[in-house]
Amino acid sequence: MFEKVVIYGLGLIGSSVARAVMHYNLAKHVHAVDLDPDVCEKVLELGIAHTTSTNLTDGLKGADFIMVAVPVGKIGSVIEKILPFVEEEAIITDAGSVKAPVADLVKRLKPRDRYIIPGHPIAGTENSGPEAGFIELFHERWVILTPDPDTPIKAIEKLTLFWEACGSQVEMMDARHHDLVLGITSHLPHLIAYSIVGTANELEDDIKSEVIKYSASGFRDFTRIAASDPIMWRDIFINNKEAILEIIQRFSEDLTALQKAIRRDDGDTLFKKFTETREIRRSIIDMGQANYVYPSQSQAGTPPVEPQSE
Ligand code: NAD
Repeated sequence: MFEKVVIYGLGLIGSSVARAVMHYNLAKHVHAVDLDPDVCEKVLELGIAHTTSTNLTDGLKGADFIMVAVPVGKIGSVIEKILPFVEEEAIITDAGSVKAPVADLVKRLKPRDRYIIPGHPIAGTENSGPEAGFIELFHERWVILTPDPDTPIKAIEKLTLFWEACGSQVEMMDARHHDLVLGITSHLPHLIAYSIVGTANELEDDIKSEVIKYSASGFRDFTRIAASDPIMWRDIFINNKEAILEIIQRFSEDLTALQKAIRRDDGDTLFKKFTETREIRRSIIDMGQANYVYPSQSQAGTPPVEPQSE
């Protein structure tokens, strides 16, 4: 599909992309760029790229596909830095969980003959680093692209084919709409998990030890989400500030309504609410988005990884 792929950031997402490119033979050469020399060393050891570098502009010669999978707060600066060195007709995309800043960057840079197409694979786990990735991460997952209206259709089609070759289904969306939708499906749940686990952490020692002991009653699921990478999530909340503040406002109002219903022994309201929410779970199952993701054989023996909607 491509002559040479360059991947920036070889964490969970970048290393999964590298594995998929190698496994499905989607490029003749994979070059991995990460600022952390230990990550570069690990990538070579894992055999998921042919060459590596800690220098952002090394290795761009002959590259026709560039994937930027660094934390959200760094995506813009990486793209701006590499753009003058990118070959004509090359496709540049990213994997960032917030799309409006990248879409705004495309508008501002208006690159000629190089195609920047913001993207977001809705696939992930709470783990990070090059060892956390696996080929099947994108299987049966959505990838949302938020292209600028001026982007040539052939570039969008090629990127769509790439993600389909990795096992994903691709949808187009407006960047701000994406950020609002993901604000509800992913960002708010993470904020709630961080907040609940944070509350537990502040409890007195004797209660805290019992919270950990009896965590299987619900708390445990929140701890999995709250174990997600702090840099990634700091960047997501700061870069999706507008949408997340709007969603927190709505959530607080709904929480207050539930609080009121409990105080007033209003069982009907609680029952109605909980019945409606059960329906949402059923719809997710019906759409095939509730299944587990299995890491590849190289990680056989590790338990199934629960998907997260990033
Ligand atoms: P990660 O923490 O596992 O890895 C990020 C890597 O980027 C690290 O190896 C780091 O050294 C490297 N890096 C940081 N700044 C860099 C720079 N300026 N140049 C080159 N390398 C740099 O992160 P991840 O979980 O793979 O997330 C990567 C991107 O994908 C983020 O934008 C995130 O929002 C998005 N995303 C993550 C998930 C998820 O579940 N983790 C899901 C979908 C999308």
